[in-house]
Amino acid sequence: AVPAALTVAVGRGAQLGVLFKGGESLERLARVDTVVFDKTGTITLGKPGVTALYPAAGVSEADLLTAAAAIEQRSEHPIAKAIVQAALERRLTLPSVQNVTAAPGRGVHGFTDGHQVAAGNAAFARELGAEIPETAGTPATMQGTTPGATRVFVCQDGRYLGSIEARDTLRPDAAEAVAKLQKMGLRVVMLTGDTRDAALTVAASAGIDEVFAGLLPDQKLEKIRELQSSGRRVAMIGDGINDAAALAQADAGIAVGTGADLAREAGDAILLSGEPLQMVRALLLARQAVRVMR
Ligand code: ADP
Ligand code: MG
Repeated sequence: AVPAALTVAVGRGAQLGVLFKGGESLERLARVDTVVFDKTGTITLGKPGVTALYPAAGVSEADLLTAAAAIEQRSEHPIAKAIVQAALERRLTLPSVQNVTAAPGRGVHGFTDGHQVAAGNAAFARELGAEIPETAGTPATMQGTTPGATRVFVCQDGRYLGSIEARDTLRPDAAEAVAKLQKMGLRVVMLTGDTRDAALTVAASAGIDEVFAGLLPDQKLEKIRELQSSGRRVAMIGDGINDAAALAQADAGIAVGTGADLAREAGDAILLSGEPLQMVRALLLARQAVRVMR
């Protein structure tokens, strides 16, 4: 039977907006010594806005945005929502799309009027045959010109159409939550599928100094495993389809409530508001309950 202290704490957690799937989930959270955050939608709000368009030569801004938004309509990714929103604001008419496939952590591709359109990170666009010219952004790294921004590369039938810069904002309580966790002696790590440049800017603002970027979903899972085999007990907090495997592998997986269904199913708990400070409160609550049990 689950000790009463745990059951009570599960109820108090629910009042805080942290829904544990059971007493064991809460107990596992109490025992972690490492907290791993996803970036997009977890440390950041996951409500990016489009900040710039970089159409390729001979392509209009409207064509670039229309192509990208048409396929992003079918994606759950926060960046996808920003691109669709930007297209709607410009009153662009989006063509219908078929056979949209998401490549978690990389991008999305599909067909409009028989043309293959893809939007995603640079590696993904290149895989689909697009040649991204050096002039596509800040030449050295092709990162967004805005620090911390993410560049989405768009191509049609293997031709480069241009790129779209989207920028997300830090969750207002992220830095405070990270500082509290560190003060409690926890190791705080950030994992992201985004590029190193974008990741480092966000991590610095949140006070996280251990960052792994450019990770595919499997590599996020692998990082959790690595931490565990070095003896760490790991809580993972994430919002995306790309975090589901890592959430399931972690000793305590915490899914952001506004995130993808798959993430919510994979976790031990759901952080309804997505606020990192609520996660810290839930951790304190869990520790207290476990202390009472002894
Ligand atoms: P994070 O790990 O920070 O949550 P993701 O793994 O979801 O980030 O995404 C990693 C990168 O893959 C994004 O920064 C973006 O470049 C690209 N990407 C993923 N999904 C999409 C999409 N639907 N449209 C455009 N780019 C995408
Ligand atoms: Mg995410």
